[in-house]
Order: sequence, then structure tokens, then C-alpha cells
Amino acid sequence: MKKDIHPEYKEISVSCACGMSFKTRSTYFKPELRLEICSNCHPFFTGTMKLVDTAGRVERFIERYKKTKKEEETPSS
Ligand SMILES: [Zn+2]
Repeated sequence: MKKDIHPEYKEISVSCACGMSFKTRSTYFKPELRLEICSNCHPFFTGTMKLVDTAGRVERFIERYKKTKKEEETPSS
């Protein structure tokens, strides 16, 4: 009877499309794992602050856009 039937945890290097790379232990069959997204670039981790910032900018932009529209629609004569 063989004893080594359990999945072997090996150290693999994980690299993400954003450039982030780290090592982890996994039963993954390849020594290297490539990710499209990781905890470093996932919106859940990085987007919160950016979204708040963007929201403020978008609101300001819409306000300005509305004003511009009104001026354009009002006949100047
Ligand atoms: Zn990433």
C-alpha cells in the first residue's frame, strides 16, 4: 500500500497580470500559476477609495455639464 496518496503541497510562484507575484503553498500541479486578478488589483480591495474619489468628480462633471447644456439651449438673442 502506498502512503503518499495525499495531495502534496508544493511551493509555487503566483504571478498576476498587474505585476504582483508571491509564493504560496498549493496542490496546484504546475510550479507557476498565472492570475488575471489578485488581491492587489481586485476592485474589491483597490476600488473602494477610487470609487469614492471618482464619484465626486463625476458629480462635479455632471453639474458642469448641465450648466453648459442650459446655456446652449437658451437662445442668446
Ligand atoms: Zn493583480
